[in-house]
Amino acid sequence: MKIAVLGAGTMGNGIAQVFAQHGHDVVLRDLEKPILDRARSTMERSLNKLVDKGRLTTVDRDATLSRVRATTDLDTVPGSRLVIEAVVEDFDVKAELFRTLDRIMATEAILASNTSAISITRLATATQRPDHVIGMHFMNPVPLMTLVEVIRGQATSDQTTRTVMDLTKGIGKTAVEVNDYPGFVSNRVLMPMINEAIFAVFEGVAAPEAIDQVMKLGMNHPMGPLTLADFIGLDVCLAIMNVLHEGLGDPKYRACPLLKRMVDAGWLGRKTGRGFYTYTEA
Ligand code: NAD
Repeated sequence: MKIAVLGAGTMGNGIAQVFAQHGHDVVLRDLEKPILDRARSTMERSLNKLVDKGRLTTVDRDATLSRVRATTDLDTVPGSRLVIEAVVEDFDVKAELFRTLDRIMATEAILASNTSAISITRLATATQRPDHVIGMHFMNPVPLMTLVEVIRGQATSDQTTRTVMDLTKGIGKTAVEVNDYPGFVSNRVLMPMINEAIFAVFEGVAAPEAIDQVMKLGMNHPMGPLTLADFIGLDVCLAIMNVLHEGLGDPKYRACPLLKRMVDAGWLGRKTGRGFYTYTEA
């Protein structure tokens, strides 16, 4: 099946890779060629690691890469049966894109969003096909993480849900169906924990290293919450907290002022080389 992935950043290149690994032709679209070149290098590195581990042949690696068509041209997207949007976590940007997709895609095409927390129901109202709009929330790093949270908006049809659940299983992932409430399940539970860890830094309870160590050794988490925040991107974390705060109206979801200040400073975590920790390779 032909799939289109919009946005070739952290998530988009992983989503494109996994679909291509499972035999789907993928159009991967971003705004600028250097971003697409970086996405292709990331895919190559990821596939080479699988080759090194003996989990993929070089023939399959090359076939996978040849199935991904990277482009800046939105005109190549129609013809896909499923579009997965993975652009910046900003409602206005996504809604504008959904309006355009609704205009250019065949009426039976499914429009999915990889949003971390934006309402699928609201995004669907930007289209004339709310029954064909759904959330497909992949986890980072996409090639390694098995979960896809499949989010049903208020109007998402049973047929759309079934198609997406089946497709997700077909690419070797485990699909879990949830309803459309702020943060869904994953971020409703995860992000307040990360935000609380940031408050603990803000209030001088302990240093980031100490907080991460407590959660790793004491709770058996594979990664401390601040390392995870840097990995996800602090701008993404802030956007999710704002969605929880606005959507649920409870002050317990207010973003920590330190998180806001770090985002204002452009310290977004691993991708900018600096967050709660510093990184030599962004
Ligand atoms: P990112 O900043 O790494 O990548 C976003 C990409 O979208 C950029 O390359 C940007 O140039 C591109 N873009 C912006 N507008 C576009 C448009 N109109 N058409 C095509 N491309 C466009 O962001 P990311 O971390 O990959 O996040 C993407 C989405 O996935 C967000 O909604 C985010 O909340 C969600 N998400 C992120 C994570 C994570 O751990 N980073 C996990 C799950 C879900």
